[in-house]
Amino acid sequence: MPATHEVFNQPPELTGYDVAEDSAMLDALRREGAGWAEDAIRKLGRLAGSAEAREWGRQANEHGPVLRTHDRFGNRIDEVEFHPAWHELMTVAVGHGLHAAPWRDERPGAHVARAAGFYVWGAADAGHCCPISMTYAIVPALRHAADLAGRFEPLLAAQEYDFGLRPPGTKRGLLAGMSMTEKQGGSDVRANTTRAVPASAAGHYLLTGHKWFTSAPMGDLFMVLAQAPGGLSCFLLPRVLPDGTRNGMRLQRLKDKLGNRSNASAEVEYDEAVAWLVGEEGRGVRTIIEMVNMTRLDCVLGTATGMRAGVTLAAHHAAHRTAFDRKLADQPLMANVLADLAIESEATTMAAFRLAGATDRAARGDGQEAAFRRLALAATKYWACKRAPAHAAEALECLGGNGYVEESGMPRLYREAPLQSIWEGSGNVAALDALRALTRQPEVAEAFFAELGQAAGADSRLDRAIARLRKELSDPAEERARHLAEAMALVLQGALLVRHGHPAVADAFTASRLGDDTAGFPGWGHAFGTLPSRIDTAAIVGRATPEIAT
Ligand SMILES: Cc1cc2nc3c(=O)[nH]c(=O)nc-3n(C[C@H](O)[C@H](O)[C@H](O)COP(=O)(O)OP(=O)(O)OC[C@H]3O[C@@H](n4cnc5c(N)ncnc54)[C@H](O)[C@@H]3O)c2cc1C
Repeated sequence: MPATHEVFNQPPELTGYDVAEDSAMLDALRREGAGWAEDAIRKLGRLAGSAEAREWGRQANEHGPVLRTHDRFGNRIDEVEFHPAWHELMTVAVGHGLHAAPWRDERPGAHVARAAGFYVWGAADAGHCCPISMTYAIVPALRHAADLAGRFEPLLAAQEYDFGLRPPGTKRGLLAGMSMTEKQGGSDVRANTTRAVPASAAGHYLLTGHKWFTSAPMGDLFMVLAQAPGGLSCFLLPRVLPDGTRNGMRLQRLKDKLGNRSNASAEVEYDEAVAWLVGEEGRGVRTIIEMVNMTRLDCVLGTATGMRAGVTLAAHHAAHRTAFDRKLADQPLMANVLADLAIESEATTMAAFRLAGATDRAARGDGQEAAFRRLALAATKYWACKRAPAHAAEALECLGGNGYVEESGMPRLYREAPLQSIWEGSGNVAALDALRALTRQPEVAEAFFAELGQAAGADSRLDRAIARLRKELSDPAEERARHLAEAMALVLQGALLVRHGHPAVADAFTASRLGDDTAGFPGWGHAFGTLPSRIDTAAIVGRATPEIAT
């Protein structure tokens, strides 16, 4: 067939670039004590930006998991089948220790290095990061049962992806999940009705009940909440029992989800399923919250990944597409939009890595960092995740109609964007948690303000914002929780940028998010692309524009 027309004014495919070529992330990696991991992160970044990994991400989402409840003879098997691309993604993630590996790594900064890997590799596909995150998160909770931790932690931390339902003790590596949410309540887990009956003499419990959401059901071990005689308690439940028989865990169906389509999320019925108590009876929430607190960090990291991917795609498109005789990136209003998206992304990345650093130091016994993390994580989880859908929508629009088309990659980012805010404490719950930490634990507020204090004097807008925040926090009414969590998160992001960020990014952030104009219209509007005029947009957008091999 002869060509009928020439294709022009379309950007080159964005593949073959280094996802880790990201100054905000690399500076944070070094600052938070994991500079030693830079070469490995770069290598992973190049893989994440390769055509091969992009294709795995696409295939794993287009050919989502399929539930097989029975074999051909009618026996229940409760298995989930995945496309080979899913297994490729999981093999890389586990092989690079993005799951529980840092818990067995003595090097200071191990959790930061893992955070960087998670952030970079998540660009290939968000869905498979769910079981990776839950495996990372289970360890602190599991340590409430020393014998179980002794048995399973080495296998959870092992860097081998060993798919398939076999007794956990016989596998080369294990994956974990979390099973809390029931039909009648996800936020209010105390409303759980799943029953846990002690099995006489055997030392375990039998769990019966339903769970409305349990993701990654092909995992090996699940942390489950159930009502024991002593109250709501936390249990470790294996998919396959040590003798090789399947545990009483029936997968009823998989959710047909908005996004996150590569990952399986199941409805589960437990039918006298064998489980081991973790922590004390009646202290289930206190125990499992340690797992939730780790996955919350990954919600922030995953959000930062999505924002970076969105602004990178948008900046790449605008650098190559011409309209009205000028590159889109050179049009002042588009430069404003891109810069606004870029500073949101950098601010989220910096907060995520500060929290990863706090996680690392807290895990090594630093009480001040644990106190800072308690409040900063709740507020940042609320605000960063809340910003994600608007950010994804605006990044998508930078590509015009092309952005609305599946193969641009933007629709996948857009569908994924609301999820991190729902997970692990939906918006209101996260904001209320920040308020609870603020009002009930004085040492937490002190640690938070000590962090902000380190930036004092460097930028008068930030100084005024810190003073305003102190005043605002004197009225911690429940209905103000979102307002206060947002303010805390913004001031923290501003403080980090003023101390460590690129000057143009810090200036744009404080001028917009922390501006305190009282006359006329505020300096910053509600949509992206409303930065004040004098901002150095070229310097900011340049940091988000990927270099590709031509
Ligand atoms: C794709 C996906 C995968 C999931 N995977 C898992 C999993 O693996 N394991 C698991 O256990 N769960 C999982 N979940 C469930 C998820 O954690 C819950 O959906 C979430 O915690 C919210 O619970 P809910 O859906 O019952 O909503 P509800 O608790 O009914 O909340 C509804 C709304 O009310 C708000 N709200 C609740 N309490 C208050 C309050 N006191 N004041 C003001 N507002 C309030 C919430 O913020 C929310 O906006 C998954 C969910 C999704 C979408």
